[in-house]
Amino acid sequence: MKSAADPVGQQYPHRERVISYFRRRAAEVDGGGCDVRDGLRLLGEHGLLDLDLPSSVALIEDIAAECLSSAFAVWAQRMVIEYLARAVTADPADELRSGRMVGATAMAPALRDVAGIQPVPVLATRTADGLRLNGPISWASNLFPGALVVLPVRLSGDARAVVRLRTTDDGVRVAPAPDLLVLNGTASSSVTLDDVHIGRDAVLTEDLPGFVAAIRPTFLLLQTAYCSGLAGRSLAETGTRTVGVNAAFAEQVDALSTAHESVRQRLYDYATRSDQVAVPDLLRLRLEGVQVAVAATRLEATVRGGAGYLAASDTSRRLREAAFLPIQAPTEGQLRWELSRFN
Ligand SMILES: Cc1cc2nc3c(=O)[nH]c(=O)nc-3n(C[C@H](O)[C@H](O)[C@H](O)COP(=O)(O)OP(=O)(O)OC[C@H]3O[C@@H](n4cnc5c(N)ncnc54)[C@H](O)[C@@H]3O)c2cc1C
Repeated sequence: MKSAADPVGQQYPHRERVISYFRRRAAEVDGGGCDVRDGLRLLGEHGLLDLDLPSSVALIEDIAAECLSSAFAVWAQRMVIEYLARAVTADPADELRSGRMVGATAMAPALRDVAGIQPVPVLATRTADGLRLNGPISWASNLFPGALVVLPVRLSGDARAVVRLRTTDDGVRVAPAPDLLVLNGTASSSVTLDDVHIGRDAVLTEDLPGFVAAIRPTFLLLQTAYCSGLAGRSLAETGTRTVGVNAAFAEQVDALSTAHESVRQRLYDYATRSDQVAVPDLLRLRLEGVQVAVAATRLEATVRGGAGYLAASDTSRRLREAAFLPIQAPTEGQLRWELSRFN
């Protein structure tokens, strides 16, 4: 987390209002009593969904310090705006920037495909005026009615494309959202596409590797931002409690704080020059962000004891939130695997 005098973080308009809004709503969003759409609309009304990269990092880091579900939804929305900005076709990005339309990024299979792990599962057939799509999206979030989903598809041969569709289009079947460990307010579920027809204007690109290379810095840095925000909040909660019997944990808090500061320094540095940062450095930063968040939330739970074990406590919510980070694409396994190929 950053204070007003923070030398690393950036500022953005309405910061105090944003922080207090997401802090107030965290428990309800976490429990699924309300969802993330109101938060997206609030940010849209204040013009905060399409900030430059360093300011978006600061925004998402701040929100994650209060509510990872909301930060994750903002990441998805911001990424869909980014995809459309890089598309070769016209787009409905104004609706997304204002938060009136929700964006869902179903791009995990694109990252796996480009890394050579697994081909994208949705198949596309050319038609006279566009593409016909069939296949599964095994996970995506922000799958609200009418949401705009961006996903990769596989054409015959080695060809790939990135396309957009709406969850309300004919042939799009969103499965009822399952109960989750966390993120219950994010409309996370799976989708089946059954003869979904999209026009040519809904094809963002047919150059999947080029597209992934272009969006990857923003994708990974904004993911690192929510790892960092969550870690910073846990460390702040833990640091004040390493006294008396818990003094034994002070060294661990110091080591984790140093690791967290290192992540933040690089995060804000890379965000100012994202196109010049080498891919392994981006992957390593994201991996370290996951690791520090998982370790910090674990330590917070240890130090808080029984109070943190209450289901309704912020400590236990953060512990659950951190459990999502290693399994979000690129997963910790994929990050380690990709990094090993650069060594
Ligand atoms: C609540 C929730 C919300 C999500 N929201 C989104 C979203 O908005 N957008 C999106 O794109 N995705 C989303 N995902 C998917 C997420 O990004 C990951 O793709 C997914 O969690 C990976 O888990 P899996 O079991 O589906 O994948 P798998 O790919 O089956 O991975 C399972 C494990 O095996 C490893 N593995 C993968 N491939 C191989 C291989 N070839 N050999 C050996 N090991 C392998 C992985 O690293 C991982 O540890 C979401 C997932 C969840 C749970």
